[in-house]
Amino acid sequence: MRVFSNPVGAGSLWFDNLTIADGTPVAYDPQARAFVPMPPFCANRERIGCNWIAPKEGEFCRSCAMTALAPDPDIPNAIPNWAQTEAAKRWALDNLGRWHWFRPEDPGAPPVFHLLAEGPTPVAMGHAQGVVTISVAEVDPVLVMTRREALQEPYRTMIGHMRHEISHMLWWRLSLREDFLDAFRAMFGDERIDYQAALQYHYQNGPPTEWRQHYLTSYASAHPHEDWAETAAHLLHLTDIADSFVATGLSSPQIPHSGWDPYSEPDAERLIRIAADLTVGVNHVNRAMGLSDLYPFVLSDHARHKLTFVHDWLRRGALGL
Ligand SMILES: [Zn+2]
Ligand SMILES: [Zn+2]
Repeated sequence: MRVFSNPVGAGSLWFDNLTIADGTPVAYDPQARAFVPMPPFCANRERIGCNWIAPKEGEFCRSCAMTALAPDPDIPNAIPNWAQTEAAKRWALDNLGRWHWFRPEDPGAPPVFHLLAEGPTPVAMGHAQGVVTISVAEVDPVLVMTRREALQEPYRTMIGHMRHEISHMLWWRLSLREDFLDAFRAMFGDERIDYQAALQYHYQNGPPTEWRQHYLTSYASAHPHEDWAETAAHLLHLTDIADSFVATGLSSPQIPHSGWDPYSEPDAERLIRIAADLTVGVNHVNRAMGLSDLYPFVLSDHARHKLTFVHDWLRRGALGL
């Protein structure tokens, strides 16, 4: 994610800022990718702290307009959890917009989001026919840690869920193209194998012993759809790590030159190599504060090939190139 200039004074603004340091309100224009000092603000600004501008006064911004179902406000913490969920969604959408996905120039359908609070039964997160369903309870730190332990996941965050589920939706968009499916099946396997049976087998028997040589995560080994979603989410993680690193002005011998834009980098192998090298360094920095690794994954050769494949399609897919 880039770091932005302050439209009414000195200094920089972060993507989530609602005001500058003295309290003057600002808003983010997702089309211009810049902060502006004036309304029309998103109709969700007061309720959930959305800092994007809207097309007209009283309307929702482009991101909030994609939320067809918001959580039941009577469920405890639904609104603050929803606010954090929408913040992760705006971040993921802005990243994807760098490759033109879901912006006005994208001729295809944007995702529809169902962002639901959890009652006694957990919300089943997933994607079907363009609809992405996310549990807003997944921002709760206690719940996340419990599920991370139960599922033996090294990494579980809301932005991770957003990237994973939107990646299923991106697969669906790409599958409407004639040239995608054969290439996909050659790289990831045939997604027409029984999905429910494959997931049931995975949860009962665990991943194959050699999964690390072929998959980024053990869950990715469950089915080609999950392999795609995990791989695409990781491409989005890695590209955003590189972009955020460069945006802060930090330097590293791996960065090709000042002004390098990871989203414009055509060489996927180079992008992945640079991002992976940066994660090793930032993991080390995190350990200085006793924090868990920024990126607790190892990229096998096979995983890098799949990341390269996803990069190729995500970079050109929105515009049908
Ligand atoms: Zn909004
Ligand atoms: Zn999935």
